[in-house]
Amino acid sequence: MFDIGVNLTSPKFLQDYDEVVQRARAAGVTGIIIIGTTMSSSRQGIILAKKNVEFFWCTVGLHPHHANTWSKKIDSEIRKLAVNPHIVAIGECGLDFYRNFSTKKEQMYAFQAQIELAIELNMPVFLHCRDAHKDFMSILKPWIPDLKAALVHCFTGTRSELEVYFEHDMYIGITGWICDQARGSDLCKLIPLIPSNRLVIETDAPWLIPKDLYPLPPSRRNEPSFLPHIMKKVAMLRGDDFLNLSNQTTCNARKLFNLT
Ligand SMILES: [Zn+2]
Repeated sequence: MFDIGVNLTSPKFLQDYDEVVQRARAAGVTGIIIIGTTMSSSRQGIILAKKNVEFFWCTVGLHPHHANTWSKKIDSEIRKLAVNPHIVAIGECGLDFYRNFSTKKEQMYAFQAQIELAIELNMPVFLHCRDAHKDFMSILKPWIPDLKAALVHCFTGTRSELEVYFEHDMYIGITGWICDQARGSDLCKLIPLIPSNRLVIETDAPWLIPKDLYPLPPSRRNEPSFLPHIMKKVAMLRGDDFLNLSNQTTCNARKLFNLT
């Protein structure tokens, strides 16, 4: 099975990185996309991917939280890094009006610039959208016909938002958010609606630990070895078989990121 979103360059994995990777493999994870959220994490992702070819791939981009650092220099650095064979998507980019660590204007500017880069470089985009669906779609929509593929990672939105994504044939990333009784119940109802060829699964580790894990690690740190736990829940919600869903979502991930 394929984890399409891990923040593996997070300092939270510094201490026991090798064990985390080992546990992921032992749990049956066969591929991981390392998310780039800044230029330094994108560069670090490439270093990790080089050491684990055919298991790790990565993205290069600027997360909306850091959109206030966008510059011509970053634009040209993304261009340079993107030629690296381990880079399979531009992002994580998008809009986050929940946290607003950068202003809306800064976020919208960096988002649009990265969409244009993805088109120019003929690469998929790895998207983040939180509490910003209207502006997110108004920026993205005109570019969709020219985009190679678009993935909304960590989808936690509403049914009508999801239907807009379906209309545009976008991929949907589902995390352990569905394992959270308090926050995830609305999302759980939407899981069966996702077309089976557009669904991908992710931990978004070290964030978003599945709250119903037992025992819950005292650190509350999520890691890719918990992917089967999320897969099981998605399979249950869709009335699907675990193995079938693992194969299908792995297939989708490989197609989305153009992996041979
Ligand atoms: Zn995100």
